[in-house]
Amino acid sequence: MSKFWSPAIRSLVPYTPGEQPKVLNLIKLNTNENPYPPSPSVVKAIHDFSMDRLRLYPDPEASKLKTALADYHNLDANQVFLGNGSDEVLALAFMAFFRHDAPLLMPETTYSFYEVYCDLLNINAVRIPLNANYEINLDDYAQKNGGIIFANPNAPTGIALPLSRIEKLLKDNPDTVVLVDEAYVDFGGESAISLIDSYPNLLVSHTFSKSRSLAGMRIGAAFGHSDLINGLERVKNSFNSYPLDMLAIEAATASVSDDAYFEETCQRIIETREKTTEALLAKGFRVLPSCANFIFVSHPERDAKELMQALRNENILVRHFTKPSINQFLRITIGTDAEMEELIAKL
Ligand SMILES: *Cc1c(COP(=O)(O)O)cnc(C)c1O
Repeated sequence: MSKFWSPAIRSLVPYTPGEQPKVLNLIKLNTNENPYPPSPSVVKAIHDFSMDRLRLYPDPEASKLKTALADYHNLDANQVFLGNGSDEVLALAFMAFFRHDAPLLMPETTYSFYEVYCDLLNINAVRIPLNANYEINLDDYAQKNGGIIFANPNAPTGIALPLSRIEKLLKDNPDTVVLVDEAYVDFGGESAISLIDSYPNLLVSHTFSKSRSLAGMRIGAAFGHSDLINGLERVKNSFNSYPLDMLAIEAATASVSDDAYFEETCQRIIETREKTTEALLAKGFRVLPSCANFIFVSHPERDAKELMQALRNENILVRHFTKPSINQFLRITIGTDAEMEELIAKL
């Protein structure tokens, strides 16, 4: 605490990212990064980039990437918004759409950044518990609200909701924005992007950090009706006009162009996830049904925090959350087959 801090920041509880260790010989299964490198097209795009261009500011609209993503998802470019990682896209969306008198509704257990933004922006949130199977039950969201946000698949459970259920929520809440955070959708979820033309209150966010192996470049996107995208642009241009640097624009555009590599690496991770799930079930673990690039597991006889520490002693990092309702679970990112075999052997 310092006397120089503005009053509003004194009580903030910032988000705690998973550890990024300085040593290299660790099996890193704690922050849901992709175990495979970005597409060779991305490597080539960066290699071929003319460094002289770095004198200039990047395109504030990142139009090249907007057009590539619009084509990829069968949208218009004015239905696409881009930001410096989806964390930034989410923060701008909270500013643009969720500052109302009625509360924002969100799951009690979900991506923990949402509550940090509420704190920062003074947004009143109602946090709705998961059901006994750790699922989001959207029937519990039938109340007056100033917006709704959840991740699908949810984090850190990995459990996905069917699109039919999300469509009902959109119909029931025509006057507020429903933000579906699809950070993990490429690993087996159903994307709500197909509903955008029918529901002007739907905003969908994506990231290049997980399925596209580009966490280090910070690229996020949102898709929705052009009125919502214009709202986001207003906030963005009141904060930072150039969220994507030139290299990020080139890398992301190249990634979108190489669909074969993308499909293959996602499929590989899904197969590894299924193999790992079976092996852990055979060891007596409970494994929630995951549609993401991680699994959420607990053991009836082993304390989760002790397991996390024991794995750390074996140079394997996994994520443990201290929140009481989930403190007997570990979130384990799906790595390569070899990494997961090592994990299972050590367990
Ligand atoms: C990883 C993650 C993000 C953030 O992704 P970035 O694009 O790296 O900022 C957003 N939402 C959820 C649910 C995530 O797990």
